[in-house]
Amino acid sequence: MNVHDSERMAGLLDQAGYEPTSDDRDADVIVINTCSVREHAEDKLYTRLGELRVLGEETGRPPMVAVAGCVAQQEGDALLTGTNGHVIDVVLGTQRVKMLPILLNKAAESSASAVDIAPWDDVGFPLGIARRSDPVKAYITIIEGCNDHCAFCVVPNTRGHERMRAKADILAEVQEAVESGRREVQLLGQIVNHYRAPDDPACDFAQLLREVDAIGGIERIRFASPHPRHAGTRLIEAIRDLPRVCKHLHLPLQSGSSRVLRAMRRRHTRDEYLDLVRRVREAIPNATLSTDIIVGFPGETSEDFDETLSLIRTVQYHSIFSFKYSVRPHTLASQRLPDDVSADEKTARIVALQSLQREIQTGLHERLVGTTHEVLVDHTSRRRQAEVAGRTTGNTVVNFPVPDAGNGRGAEDWIGRLVRVTIRRAGPYSVWGEVADSG
Ligand code: SAH
Repeated sequence: MNVHDSERMAGLLDQAGYEPTSDDRDADVIVINTCSVREHAEDKLYTRLGELRVLGEETGRPPMVAVAGCVAQQEGDALLTGTNGHVIDVVLGTQRVKMLPILLNKAAESSASAVDIAPWDDVGFPLGIARRSDPVKAYITIIEGCNDHCAFCVVPNTRGHERMRAKADILAEVQEAVESGRREVQLLGQIVNHYRAPDDPACDFAQLLREVDAIGGIERIRFASPHPRHAGTRLIEAIRDLPRVCKHLHLPLQSGSSRVLRAMRRRHTRDEYLDLVRRVREAIPNATLSTDIIVGFPGETSEDFDETLSLIRTVQYHSIFSFKYSVRPHTLASQRLPDDVSADEKTARIVALQSLQREIQTGLHERLVGTTHEVLVDHTSRRRQAEVAGRTTGNTVVNFPVPDAGNGRGAEDWIGRLVRVTIRRAGPYSVWGEVADSG
């Protein structure tokens, strides 16, 4: 979602007459779009501000600096005084993206900083403005904000309450993405499967998938992140039945212990989650699953953590994102639950979790060897010439050499193509293959 907000900001700046540069030293304006979902992400802002201060001293021509995103929303005015002499010209809240050019002008004219972190309910965004950074995949926001108050999570504070975009706007944006040559769309929302169209009360997320699927020219549809609590039969059937919806489900788990899930306020148990996984597998046997895990949530005992490990073994995810718990301002956990798992213990748990997962996914990848998959090519290899990579419907990354290299056709030509690839070799994080037929 942050990446997509950056695409929107870049497009707004294009429209206001700015030009992009890849060299910091040339920039008149630098926008830092921040994340505060974990402390580590937030720290990056302060590192970057330090680098920019040095740059300004070296060139004698410091750029205007705008801080956007969740840290801007969270800190507001405090950023202007609390960052050890870093000069920030604009503080732009998460709900005020559209104001960026106006605030930059205001700050330039008045030589005082401009701050706008007001909440804003309007989630419309004009079509055709976002400067999409991915040639193959288009991100499309369908819900902003969140009304769940999971105990660990800062999002409801930084992105506001849940607001749905009109279905008509979403479908128009999908159409626009197709016309601009994108072959995949990724629908975005904090709880993406909570969607209900404000302009069509009968349309839930499963129905939205059906309508997006019916748009000609789209090859693949993905979405992130669904909440297990709202993942029911209608969603499972939509994934099973719709040809363009990828057979992959990211189902954030957070913890395998029902006790910890309750403390986190996730509103489902371990057994309910496992039952959901069973129903997904029954309906769509080849579907892959991925998840998010937090280790070291307050009160997590080693027995609780063992339940996470055992669940990981049972489910056999194709990939996981794992995080050490970090205290976030204004969250329920920060107010009520002491951060009592030591830093060393969190490290030990995340290392154990990741090494188990590495073993599991290496095994799953080995089983792919000899099978053939449709791969949507999305980038060229940075390390090897004439090699490209893409993803299967199940979201496995497949690397392969392009057969017609040397015929004057570069690997770039393959970006955006759907290619049948036979897997020959497996690694823990991706697999390697060769084109099955060039028809
Ligand atoms: N809306 C999604 C979560 C998006 S945030 C959901 O409800 O599942 C992405 C991931 O960051 C979360 O799934 C969680 O695993 C992790 N995360 C969020 N807050 C965190 C915190 N305080 N400490 C560590 N990890 C956190």
